Amino acid sequence: MFSIGLTGGIGSGKSAVADLLVERGAWLIDADIVAREVVEPGGPAYEPLLERFGTDILAVDRSIDRQALADVAFASPEALADLNAITHPVIGIEMIERQRALAETDALVILAIPLLRAIHRETMVIDRVVVVDCPTEVAVDRLVTYRAFPEGDARARIAAQITREERTAEADYVLLNDAGLDELEAAVERLWDWIAAVRPGG
Ligand code: ATP
Repeated sequence: MFSIGLTGGIGSGKSAVADLLVERGAWLIDADIVAREVVEPGGPAYEPLLERFGTDILAVDRSIDRQALADVAFASPEALADLNAITHPVIGIEMIERQRALAETDALVILAIPLLRAIHRETMVIDRVVVVDCPTEVAVDRLVTYRAFPEGDARARIAAQITREERTAEADYVLLNDAGLDELEAAVERLWDWIAAVRPGG
């Protein structure tokens, strides 16, 4: 196994890069997807969240209504800390287990982690960190155009994150995604070649 930690700010194009790497044969373990799965009925965060936040967070089918959960959790710092304390460890464990299942294979594993931090290098096997970067104005434009964010919300979400400089400081490779999809495809091709070059035996 060779493992890449993939991160980037909101709207940078992480998912687009991850998809192009999967097309080329990589395995993807995506923290956003795992985060959705752990709160599903039967998932490890489901009962603890009900105990903490009550049945108001349930939809009629007894699944957790993510918007209702966000509404109560973002209402106070304590509630948000509790939400994170319940979900983050089980997301981490699940990602570690999925990665471990591939440990003895020759898979190229992409760990897509929006909030990748130095600590992840200690809790998971991460051989290289790749940061997808783009100018703030480009990210705002994508969020407004493709995600229907009001512009103010897009700017607020970006401002709440770590800065581009802080993120790229952690990078072994920075993929600049500031143009169109053809340019992105070419940039991923160059990333693919770099991975092959740095991968032991690659
Ligand atoms: P989030 O943190 O919200 O998950 P992300 O970094 O995963 O964001 P994507 O979902 O990959 O970002 O990209 C945001 C939007 O911009 C998507 O609709 C995607 O298709 C589009 N996009 C990404 N890169 C480009 C590009 N180079 N040209 C055109 N559209 C792009």
